[in-house]
Amino acid sequence: MTPRDEATYYSRQTVLPEVGIDGQQKLKKSRVLVVGAGGLGCPALQFLAAAGVGTIGICDADRLDASNLHRQVLYHYRDIGEPKAELAAQRIRELNPFITVTAYTERVHADNARAYFDQYDVVLDCTDNFESKYLLNDTAVQTNTPLVQAGVYKFEGQIHVCDPAEGTGCLRCLWPETPEEGSVGSCAEVGVLGMVPGLLGTMQATETVKLILGLPGVLRGAMLLINLLNYRVHRMAFPKNPACPVCGNAPQPVRRTPVPNDPVTELEVEIAALTPDALREFSVIDIREAFETQARPLTELPCREIPMSQFAADTLADDGKVKYLLCCAHGVRSRNLALALRRNGLQQVYSLKGGVAALE
Ligand SMILES: [Zn+2]
Repeated sequence: MTPRDEATYYSRQTVLPEVGIDGQQKLKKSRVLVVGAGGLGCPALQFLAAAGVGTIGICDADRLDASNLHRQVLYHYRDIGEPKAELAAQRIRELNPFITVTAYTERVHADNARAYFDQYDVVLDCTDNFESKYLLNDTAVQTNTPLVQAGVYKFEGQIHVCDPAEGTGCLRCLWPETPEEGSVGSCAEVGVLGMVPGLLGTMQATETVKLILGLPGVLRGAMLLINLLNYRVHRMAFPKNPACPVCGNAPQPVRRTPVPNDPVTELEVEIAALTPDALREFSVIDIREAFETQARPLTELPCREIPMSQFAADTLADDGKVKYLLCCAHGVRSRNLALALRRNGLQQVYSLKGGVAALE
């Protein structure tokens, strides 16, 4: 009879010296929470379950929509309308009967996040909105819990591990304020190829298993950016910022709710409006990071380079004459930064719509 026991189930990974029987025991004892059972969560859950993570929690308040199926490959067409957390729990229990799976069909919010984190050793951020990402980030720091975060945008993905106990940086070290919802298009608006979250979710599961087993090479203090169209991969240093409002030397209470839209007019400048006359009015600033400007220099416009990571509130002087035009890869960061600077009182600041990509 074909053996169906637990040891046989894991035999192809326990044979690895890096895993072994001891490593498998570590996985079995580990407790992992996956927040978001969507495009990132589906592959992450499948591989965490198959690897033998002993206790898995799945948090998702949504029901399956037909438009989810091209990327959320754990689900079936007949499941449309059903709660995703419960569907996912049922699927991965079928995949591995040797683990314990709990479904939570509520949203993680400021009042319950801590209680969730207290029950788990590692948390995966598989959400698709800034409010959740920042809430998970802040709770990870406050509870000293490793958080494996990923995000996707069109054909690109990014992943990093925030491990407060190891002194790594967090999201707010790089971007202190929660960006407004809608300032970056979500999957619903801009679209995403299903394989992109498929790959990034798989990488989140990989990092989680590496964390549990104590393997080297965990993406701590670094963010990996991968473009699946051209296979460019960048590893961006992600140092801890002593001035970070959450994990820095003097933590401050952070604003939980997104700021309502200010009546900002003419924030974005279209490429087509950049006539030679118009250009003379602007001081163009390329806010991309050094690795980005090296890979794709901005030669079309006369500009200065000031990476966003080095921007302070007083980086740009307000002399009432110069208009600043910020430029980044896709016009997302530049728009956020321009908004933030205007809130700080610098009104003559604009964002190049579509960024460098729109110049091509
Ligand atoms: Zn931080």
